[in-house]
Amino acid sequence: MTLVGHLINGEIRTDASRQQDIFNPSTGQVSKQLAIAGKATVEEAIAAANAAFPAWRATPVAKRARIMFRFKELLEQHADKIITLIGEEHGKISHDAKGELQRGIESVEYACGAPELLKGEHSRNVGPSIDSWSEFQPLGVVAGITPFNFPAMVPLWMYPMAIVCGNTFILKPSERDPSSVLFIAQLLEEAGLPPGVLNVVNGDKEAVDTLLHASKIQAVSFVGSTPIAEYIYATASANGKRCQALGGAKNHAIVMPDADMDNAVNQLLGAAFGSSGERCMALSVAVTVGDAAGDALVAKMKQAMTSLKVGTHSDSSNDFGPLISKQHQEKVIGYINSAEEQGAKIVVDGRYPEVTGFSEGFFVGGTLIDNVTAEMVSYKEEIFGPVLQVVRVDTMQEAMDLIDAHEYGNGTCIFTRDGEAARYFSDHIQVGMVGINVPLPVPVAYHSFGGWKRSLFGDLHAYGPDSVRFYTKRKTITQRWPSAGVREGAEFSFPS
Ligand code: NAD
Repeated sequence: MTLVGHLINGEIRTDASRQQDIFNPSTGQVSKQLAIAGKATVEEAIAAANAAFPAWRATPVAKRARIMFRFKELLEQHADKIITLIGEEHGKISHDAKGELQRGIESVEYACGAPELLKGEHSRNVGPSIDSWSEFQPLGVVAGITPFNFPAMVPLWMYPMAIVCGNTFILKPSERDPSSVLFIAQLLEEAGLPPGVLNVVNGDKEAVDTLLHASKIQAVSFVGSTPIAEYIYATASANGKRCQALGGAKNHAIVMPDADMDNAVNQLLGAAFGSSGERCMALSVAVTVGDAAGDALVAKMKQAMTSLKVGTHSDSSNDFGPLISKQHQEKVIGYINSAEEQGAKIVVDGRYPEVTGFSEGFFVGGTLIDNVTAEMVSYKEEIFGPVLQVVRVDTMQEAMDLIDAHEYGNGTCIFTRDGEAARYFSDHIQVGMVGINVPLPVPVAYHSFGGWKRSLFGDLHAYGPDSVRFYTKRKTITQRWPSAGVREGAEFSFPS
């Protein structure tokens, strides 16, 4: 059976403190083994990244960017293989994996612009014969820790920009679907990246803790669930590291009485059930304003869901695939059970769907739950499955108060034809990414991505302009070259 290892200093290695199963979630069977790195292996990766840093930092930024241009071409050339690797281990259908890869490639394209992004700021003649400028220098060795749900895209949010800014990088991907990550890292080396600049270590808490406590690691980017994000942020900060830690979500869509209901249903279908709801931007709660909107949305959604197809990743006619693991399948079903027990109405029941030929797969079908309230466990917590819950309220203000009271603030959306209502909503809602008739307002690569409240710990968002700031430190230089013969006396007051 294939043993998936690490990439350290340009070499694939399989040292392991133990091995762990990798599953194919469509079949429910173990497909590969993963080498779990112990502390010593992670320390070797840190040493390799540290040794590679001086030469990489000194490499002209245009040369670093040229490697990114070649990397982008290789990602496009090998897209089919990457999509297959994602499908086999994550379970997402090829059209969805293709979209994920495309969004990752867009972050690489943005990183190709590093020579422009790192130009700095310059002021001439701030005083007699004095010029001043700010430049953006790399931090050194930085680390990224990523979740299972976007195995290609989320790492690509991080290391292309970190590397093109002159840092060296250690990536600790999710242990559930590591193969596409490792393959992509090798493509970057094929594009010309020197050994040691990007290292990938597979592992678990031990590997993460080694990174968090290593004195050589200057900064940590994390994406995953909120309890772990909070832990990473607290530990990295306590150890003096710069940290951005993106966490979980519960994204609400407000459906106003004047919304184009057919359009809202279509948009919600993809946003709630695409990728089995395993997206941090999935719309998992529809808040309907007024009885008529609630009744219409539930009736039309129920009808539309009859055509939803859940099945294996290898059949591209399916709308979405299995969940990541047996444990997660049970957890999602547990949330549906709890909503029912707490008095909500299961309108469409996706528990234990029949998927012909894949009876052991980790499937949950599209599920619609009506009459959900803010007190229910299924409302308070992130389900991360193909479950859309409907909360009915009477006014838009009530809907906004509900959203603002939730602990998460990643994404949200309003469906309406009323520009004034939409403008009020986007201006006041306490959420980091807002859509107006756009269900998944994932910013493009040249903006930045991040939630508010307990969906993000730290100051700077992921990718886009914030990532240039996250992966560099500002240095401001003030320089005087007096004209020959001009000599000034000592000055004891503060320079003005
Ligand atoms: P997770 O938090 O379980 O794991 C994320 C990473 O942390 C993995 O690499 C994992 O190995 C590591 N990890 C897990 N437990 C750890 C521990 N105790 N100590 C140290 N490291 C640990 O998340 P997941 O299940 O892989 O991903 C799903 C979660 O990620 C969801 O909550 C989702 O909302 C969130 N997510 C958020 C964003 C965002 O941008 N805000 C994007 C994608 C996913």
